[in-house]
Amino acid sequence: MLIAKNLTHRYTSGGRPLEVLTEIDLTIAPGEFVAVVGPSGSGKTTLLGLLAGLDLPTEGTVELDGVDLSALSEDGRARLRAAKVGFVFQSFQLLSTLTAHENVLLPLELLGDDRRHGEAAHQLLDRVGLGVRGHHYPTQLSGGEQQRVALARALANEPRFLFADEPTGNLDRANGAHVLELLERANRDTGATVVLVTHDPALTASAHRVVRLDDGRIASEERR
Ligand code: ADP
Ligand code: MG
Repeated sequence: MLIAKNLTHRYTSGGRPLEVLTEIDLTIAPGEFVAVVGPSGSGKTTLLGLLAGLDLPTEGTVELDGVDLSALSEDGRARLRAAKVGFVFQSFQLLSTLTAHENVLLPLELLGDDRRHGEAAHQLLDRVGLGVRGHHYPTQLSGGEQQRVALARALANEPRFLFADEPTGNLDRANGAHVLELLERANRDTGATVVLVTHDPALTASAHRVVRLDDGRIASEERR
């Protein structure tokens, strides 16, 4: 369960506070697939970062499987993320000096050493259709391929919560559809809760619920 209560977030910009989220209440059930949509600047990325525990809200609370993220230290939040959270960024954010295989291996190594991790990383790459590309570096892969490596990396810890911030924003339609299908499959096959930020209405078709943000507030929610 993912419960956000009364989230308000402000950035300090040029010495002045800028409120970008206002009194957000959102409860996401286990296994739910939620799409968050809204215009650029409406606070989607900020909200996703708060829900995933990458950052703490100025006011309000986020509870992830019963744990109040504000009550944890930064290390505690990092440990919780390593155990339960997968995150996919619009810009892939693979480490350029590591191969695809090594990028996927990284979160597995964070969970403790186990000689089976090499095989697990290979299986994850296989799952996203890149089993034969493990030795390639990010620059040797197309955008769509890099995003599938990033998704394999996000799935490595078998996350209960998978967050994706416009993961298809830099991809053409065919590659975008492939990445969306992998997110849907993770939701269906592993029961992971998925929160997908997108501004492409086509990508919301498979969501159980669409939450629309406007100027930092929830403007509407539509259940499917
Ligand atoms: P979206 O993802 O919907 O485009 P964001 O959450 O990225 O929205 O941004 C919401 C607002 O917060 C925007 O006005 C943006 O300029 C501002 N913002 C985002 N990150 C920062 C930051 N680190 N410092 C100051 N302002 C920020
Ligand atoms: Mg954004």
